[in-house]
Amino acid sequence: SDSTLWLLGDQLNLDLDALEATDDVLLIEAHGFAARRRYHAHKLTLVFSAMRHFRDDLRDRGHDVTYLEADSFGEGIATFLDRRPDVAFRLMRPASHGAGERLRGIVEARGGSLILLENELFWTTPDDWRAWTGKSSGGEERNGKERNADGVAIHEDGTADRTYRQEDWYRHVRRETGVLMDGDEPEGGEWNYDDRNRETPPDGWTPPNPPRFEPDALTRETHAWVRDRFDTWGNDSIETFAWPVTRKEALTALDAFVARGLPAFGRYQDAMVGGEPFLAHSLLSPAINLGLLDPREPVRAVEAAYEARGGEPGAFDPDVGSAGSETTLDAFATGGEGDGTAADRSPVPLNAAEGFIRQVLGWREFVRHVYRETMPELADANRLDQKRTLPPLYWDGETDMRCLSEAVGHVREHGYAHHIERLMVLSNFAMLYGVDPAELDEWFHLGFVDAYHWVTTPNVVAMGSFGTDVLSSKPYAASGSYVNRMSDHCASCPYAVSRTTGEGACPFNALYWDFLMEHEETLRGTGRTGLLYSHADDKDDGEREAIRERAARVRELAAAGEL
Ligand code: FAD
Repeated sequence: SDSTLWLLGDQLNLDLDALEATDDVLLIEAHGFAARRRYHAHKLTLVFSAMRHFRDDLRDRGHDVTYLEADSFGEGIATFLDRRPDVAFRLMRPASHGAGERLRGIVEARGGSLILLENELFWTTPDDWRAWTGKSSGGEERNGKERNADGVAIHEDGTADRTYRQEDWYRHVRRETGVLMDGDEPEGGEWNYDDRNRETPPDGWTPPNPPRFEPDALTRETHAWVRDRFDTWGNDSIETFAWPVTRKEALTALDAFVARGLPAFGRYQDAMVGGEPFLAHSLLSPAINLGLLDPREPVRAVEAAYEARGGEPGAFDPDVGSAGSETTLDAFATGGEGDGTAADRSPVPLNAAEGFIRQVLGWREFVRHVYRETMPELADANRLDQKRTLPPLYWDGETDMRCLSEAVGHVREHGYAHHIERLMVLSNFAMLYGVDPAELDEWFHLGFVDAYHWVTTPNVVAMGSFGTDVLSSKPYAASGSYVNRMSDHCASCPYAVSRTTGEGACPFNALYWDFLMEHEETLRGTGRTGLLYSHADDKDDGEREAIRERAARVRELAAAGEL
């Protein structure tokens, strides 16, 4: 009988089992969403160019691909059904909540049928998760709902019936997969080497050049069309577009990271350096989230590099692999190959390998399952009842605060900021300022090249905004001293990180204390917040008043675009 495999724009993987079963593939490039909101230009170019390259790669491999451009999926499906009225659709369950049922509804409304297949592009399955949480199975495939009847709920006040800890999940998955294991024990004897991953680079350290993929004719044509067709946000020059758009480029990006970025990845993972958006980060999330890389690939590649080049935790020569050293693989700057060079052989400390693997095998899988379990409540969770609208500096980057102007600048320029900028600058500031988590979620969704609802929502609403306590017992809140410790920003910032109150004091400081006082009822005594309040309790009434005044002033300036 007639059937087609419908692949979505974030399912661009050539090695799917689902593709082995069929030659017939449908891709629908839907444009309506991009016309309704202003997305980062590079994000639209990335997704549409990757889809078009994927179409061509599939055809080269002999697949029969129908590629439709449409305003909406509904329109595309109607067009396709006109041509093939008896076709049955097969679709890998989308990562986005409820999308499987919604798309089935669209197909059925037009007289067609759709079968949902398991999503192959995550390492762990809903059953794996249920086995870990000890819940009874059933639910998911049986009744076609994303959620179990007994799935976790997030209540009106943002508290979750059940809380999950990434570290426990991560250990479980390490054991189950055997990754970085020495028999039943974790490699090196510890599960987590994060205490070694909090350094800032010495002066003069130059991070490895991230690989740059020269946009080809198809990417340029796609970009020109994006600029012409849509109202976009951020940098819209093709000359600085550097993301992999094909399987081949994604593999090169992975090789480049393993050869050059990885040795320094752990150590400088939390650092922020002025003018350096990428440091030693892998920059792989856009490719992984599109399906160009299977998440197993970076994990296995890093594990193999550790096995081949492994060193003690901490064994790391800051000069090896840095752009300033002689071991630079210039080939990678143009997307070339590189093996056998000194950088390829530089030691991979265990804290680097473990730190990276935890991000992908631990965090990435974890947030996906937490999202599955807690939607739709997660999207609107607002435990702190925050209602302010995002200050204009998030859109225009205009602020004297160095940390924020750097981080927003990276997003505007590249559609990217690394994890600590996302968590400890961009969402920390928004949370302390009082932004509605759902609005912040949308900002991340529009502005980042790797953003999809399943991944921004748990990260932004739960982790970054403490909209719910489902994945952490305390908010990721910090004052200016955290930024000062982890970056070189404060030295060149007109605001004084050493001061909390009065004109010119670092805005993070007053906002931080004001936030703790404001939400005392919710935060005191919950989880590990006792320590936070031990310092707040030292402040006398006069100090508290001055903090409130300064915080109010900071909010006023930020709202007026004058911070
Ligand atoms: P690296 O630092 O090199 O990390 C390696 C990989 O680990 C990443 O490529 C990613 O696949 C994975 N990873 C690490 N942490 C997480 C996490 N918390 N959730 C999911 N995957 C993770 N990640 C996205 O992919 N898309 C997003 O839209 C996104 N939004 C975020 C918003 C906030 C507020 C926060 C705090 C985090 C967000 N993250 C998001 C997670 C993380 O910051 C990015 O995955 C990472 O910065 C991507 O850059 P990289 O590939 O250079 O990462």
